[in-house]
Amino acid sequence: ITDILGQQAKARGESKLSQYVATRPVFTEVEAIRRAIFFAKQTGCPIHICHVACPEGVEEVIKARQEGVNVTCETCIHYLYFTTDNLDAIGPIAKCSPPIRDQQAQDGLWKYLFAGHIITAVSDHSPCTYDLKNKTNAFDAWGGISGVQNNVDIFFDEAVQKRGMSLKQFADIIAKNPAERYNLPTKGSIQVGKDADLIFIKPHSHYVLKEQDLEYRNKFSPYVGRQIGAQVVQTLLRGKTIYQIDSGIDSTPRGTFIRR
Ligand SMILES: [Zn+2]
Repeated sequence: ITDILGQQAKARGESKLSQYVATRPVFTEVEAIRRAIFFAKQTGCPIHICHVACPEGVEEVIKARQEGVNVTCETCIHYLYFTTDNLDAIGPIAKCSPPIRDQQAQDGLWKYLFAGHIITAVSDHSPCTYDLKNKTNAFDAWGGISGVQNNVDIFFDEAVQKRGMSLKQFADIIAKNPAERYNLPTKGSIQVGKDADLIFIKPHSHYVLKEQDLEYRNKFSPYVGRQIGAQVVQTLLRGKTIYQIDSGIDSTPRGTFIRR
């Protein structure tokens, strides 16, 4: 459906990002979620719906849970931050799928996040080279948002500072809930026997994100130029400091595979 709607829009000469969004209506997202939940229900397979961008999608998850299906869902920070009102000013750098939707959809996502129906909010960090984004027609641009560097800052600002989320719920959403859902026994909480993966956040510490501050290989992000109201000042991975605000990132690769 979205392919055909996209072809028709392009044939009409449409090129704006908001016009791309209109070719991916909410019902197409909901239909895909419903279908996946149906298979989960028939097979008994646990399922986690990634990147839900509309409250109607969450409502399908709520309904299925009431019927006993082992289903959870997440949303992304960019769906909680941008709306269709911002999109044409930013252009293809804010293109993703499912697309960023309107204010009403965003309000619904916040409501379901606070109520615990959306268990986590993630980056879906999807980088690409600039030439793939640098298109005059948004329909031709590559879809995906680079946000992982600033997502925790932004989410702390938007959820805790602007909307009054408790610190406990904030920690549950970014750490505890995903660790439990994905059965990662050494992650998700501060406890004896778990990895000392810690972040230290300085609240009410405003900065404007600049392109040159990005640590990405491809230095662009829809958050460039935005004022962000909190800042991670130190990050520990398994007890080792890997980032400090003054000295920057320790780029030694330290990732390890975690068996579920
Ligand atoms: Zn993704």
